[in-house]
Amino acid sequence: MSVLVYIETSNSKIRKVSYELAYYGVQAGKTLDMGCVGIVVGDCEDLDKLTSCGLSKVVKIASNSNGDNGTIADAIAEVAKNHSASLLVFGHSSIGKSLMPRVAFQLNAGSVTGINSLPSIDSGQFQVSKGVFSGKAIATYEISTPIKVVTLMGNSLKPSLVDESELVIEEAAVSIADGSVTIKETKKEEGTVPLPEAELVVSAGRGMKGPENWGIIEELATVLGATTACSRPVADIGWRPHHEHVGQTGVAIRPNLYIAAGISGAIQHLAGVNNSKTIVVINKDPEAPFFKAADYGICADLFDVVPRLTESLKKFKAS
Ligand SMILES: Cc1cc2nc3c(=O)[nH]c(=O)nc-3n(C[C@H](O)[C@H](O)[C@H](O)COP(=O)(O)OP(=O)(O)OC[C@H]3O[C@@H](n4cnc5c(N)ncnc54)[C@H](O)[C@@H]3O)c2cc1C
Repeated sequence: MSVLVYIETSNSKIRKVSYELAYYGVQAGKTLDMGCVGIVVGDCEDLDKLTSCGLSKVVKIASNSNGDNGTIADAIAEVAKNHSASLLVFGHSSIGKSLMPRVAFQLNAGSVTGINSLPSIDSGQFQVSKGVFSGKAIATYEISTPIKVVTLMGNSLKPSLVDESELVIEEAAVSIADGSVTIKETKKEEGTVPLPEAELVVSAGRGMKGPENWGIIEELATVLGATTACSRPVADIGWRPHHEHVGQTGVAIRPNLYIAAGISGAIQHLAGVNNSKTIVVINKDPEAPFFKAADYGICADLFDVVPRLTESLKKFKAS
């Protein structure tokens, strides 16, 4: 019996989510009294870094795949059977959400998406929990099938580093069949850290008054080395691209620092950002709900505060 975690990669490197998954799998294995094995599709240059999360074995599926998640899921299900996996963990990412239900179907497994806790065993029953109602409540799910499949919400737990051991990489005895869907081209934005992986985020909302004013947000982000984000209405009206929208219906983030300028802090916005380690809110309305969630609040006009913050940071960096 084992816990299997799906290791996501990008450009042959481990994605941040995979460290969380590896750590989660190892810790879940301790609770369930079983080992944890990573599973990776295709080449990955820095797999050995996963040992810092306690992972000691990865099964590698060679990929000549055309990118069809249906056939990739078939191969993962085969590996799961070969390793007698009783729990499979995917990231709650676009790839994880695409693979997980297919694998669950193949294995006749009960599944829960977007969990945020390690499993617990209560009266012999396997339980996991997840946030519901925009994070205002926690629901506990019991999965009773012999094999369980879950997706782990990003930034649900911070891996603590363990003594590194040696990583064993095993070539899987399965291959990925050609699928019926082919990825022809993938266009990625270069030069910025994707929001789910960003440690520093500068975000702004309708208080910016218009897209022409975003220069001050971009400048602050550049000085900090941060990724930019926005509230939903701002993306909806086309001031900013949709991939920057954070919140309940957007990207969920958990950076070390989240600076929010001109955002009211509606519950749907908070649902995607309230796991940030430190939240700084700049809003001229002292009644703005965001102040209740803030670690630091600046009640002032953002058009005054943001440029001054940027200048101070420039001076600080220069000194
Ligand atoms: C089903 C559903 C899902 C949703 N999902 C999301 C989601 O994922 N993400 C999301 O963000 N929203 C989401 N929303 C929308 C959400 O309810 C809010 O309407 C939205 O977050 C408000 O955006 P905002 O704070 O930018 O704008 P506003 O609510 O208009 O707030 C603007 C803020 O800027 C401040 N301000 C104005 N001028 C200045 C200034 N010069 N200096 C400083 N402060 C200033 C104001 O005091 C105000 O607090 C969702 C709504 C629904 C119904």
